[in-house]
Amino acid sequence: QISNHMATAELQALDADHHMHPFSTQAGFKTKGARVITRASGTRLWDSEGNEILDAMAGLWCVNIGYGRDELAEVAYRQMKELPYYNTFFQTTHVPVIALSARLAELAPGDLNHVFYAGSGSEANDTNIRMVRFYWAQKGKPDKNIIISRKNGYHGSTLGAMSLGGMSGMHAQGGVVQNVHHIDQPNWWAEGGDMTPEEFGLERAQQLEKAILELGEDRVAAFIAEPIQGAGGVIVPPETYWPEIKRICDKYEILLIADEVICGFGRTGQWFGSQTVGIQPHIMTIAKGLSSGYAPIGGSIVCDEVAEVVGSGEFNHGYTYAGHPVSAAVALENLRILDEEKIIETAREQIAPYLKQQFEALVDHPMVGEAKIVGHMGSIALTPNKETRAKFAAEAGTVGYICRERCFANNLIMRHVGDRMIISPPLVFTRDDVDLLISRARKSLDEAYAKVKAEG
Ligand code: PLP
Repeated sequence: QISNHMATAELQALDADHHMHPFSTQAGFKTKGARVITRASGTRLWDSEGNEILDAMAGLWCVNIGYGRDELAEVAYRQMKELPYYNTFFQTTHVPVIALSARLAELAPGDLNHVFYAGSGSEANDTNIRMVRFYWAQKGKPDKNIIISRKNGYHGSTLGAMSLGGMSGMHAQGGVVQNVHHIDQPNWWAEGGDMTPEEFGLERAQQLEKAILELGEDRVAAFIAEPIQGAGGVIVPPETYWPEIKRICDKYEILLIADEVICGFGRTGQWFGSQTVGIQPHIMTIAKGLSSGYAPIGGSIVCDEVAEVVGSGEFNHGYTYAGHPVSAAVALENLRILDEEKIIETAREQIAPYLKQQFEALVDHPMVGEAKIVGHMGSIALTPNKETRAKFAAEAGTVGYICRERCFANNLIMRHVGDRMIISPPLVFTRDDVDLLISRARKSLDEAYAKVKAEG
C-alpha cells in the first residue's frame, strides 16, 4: 500500500509516472523528484525526509489561519455525517450555505450582500464574466460585454479566468475568450522610468479611461483587478492609482470587480484588500483564505443592485460543488476563528510592522532593487544594478528560479515570479517566524548572488 512510510525515492518515482503537476514541465520530475510533503502544523511543513520547512507562502496564498486546526477537521467530519452533499439548484438550500452567506454579507463592505458560490477562484471569475454580461443584457445593453483587466493579472486557469488574466505565457497556449482587453499594470519600479510613483499611478489608471474611450463606453461592461496584484509579482500600486480607477469606473458606469482571492480574509491587514486600497467594488471574487485552503470553495459577493438585476431573470449558470455543505461549514468555522481569535488584528498590529521593517530591509542586499510589503503580502525585485534597475543578462526568471531553489534547499518556501521573489505567509506568523524567514532568505540570496556572479 502506498503511504507516508514508503521510501521517498519510491514515492517520487510513482509521482513522476502517474501524476501531472500544474504549471510544471513534467519531464523534470523523472530526473529530480518532487518533494513529498507529509504533514503540517502552524507555519511549518514536514517532508518525507523529516525536514522542517517554513512556509512563507501559506501554501498557495491560502492557509491564513495556519495548518493543523482541529476545529476545522471536526466541523468537516460532523457535516459529512449529517449532510455530506446537497446543492442549491432548483429551490433547495441548506444551513451551512445560509449561515456562510449571511456571515459574508456582514463582513463584506457596503451593500455586498449576496453570494454566488463556486468551487474555486477560477470558477468564480468565470461566473463573473457571465454574470456581468447577463446583467447588462438584462438592462437592455447586450453589447456592453467587454471586460477590461490588466497585463500580468492572474484570475485563474479556466478558459474564462485565464482570458481575464494577463499572463502572456498562458494566452500563448491558446483558447483566449473574446471581448477581454488588457491594460498595463502599475509596476512603478520596473516601468515607472523618470516618473514619480504618484505620476505613474495616475498614468496607469488613466489607461483605463483611454481604453474605455477607444472601445466605446457602451461596449465596456466591467473592469477587474486584484487590489494588490499577487501572482503577477505582488505589485503594490502607487497611492494615486485606485482613487483614479474608481473615478473612471463611476464616470463611465463600468462595474468594478475586485478579485480578492489572494487579498481577501486578512492578507492586506483588513478583511478585504478593497478596504486597504479604499474602493467599494460591485463584485468581489473570493476563494483561498475563505476556508484557509482546508476545503475547496470560492464565490462572488455581489452588491444589491447587481444581484437584483441578475436575479430578475434566469441566470443559467451553476456548479455541482457550488456552496458544498462541507466546504461551507469549514469556511464558516475558519471565519469564526479569524474573528474570535482576532487573527487579522493581531497580524496587522503586532506582526506586520516588524515584518515590514525586516522584509523591506532586504533592499540592502546587493541583488535586491526593491522590497515592498503590505500586511502579509510582499515581494523583492532582483536586479544586477540597483541604480539603473537593470534586468539580468540571463533569460527573465532564471535568477528568480535560482533564488527559489536556494530557499527550497534552505527549508524556506518563497515563490518567484520572473525575477521577483514573493512572500505571503500565514497570518499566524510569529516574530520568531519572521526572524527565521529573514535569515533563511538572506542566506539564500547570498548563495544565489554567488552563483550568478560565478556564472557571469
Ligand atoms: N484570482 C486570483 C487573484 C488568484 O491569485 C487565483 C489563484 O491563485 C485565482 C483567482 C484562481 O483561484 P483558483 O486557483 O482557486 O482557481
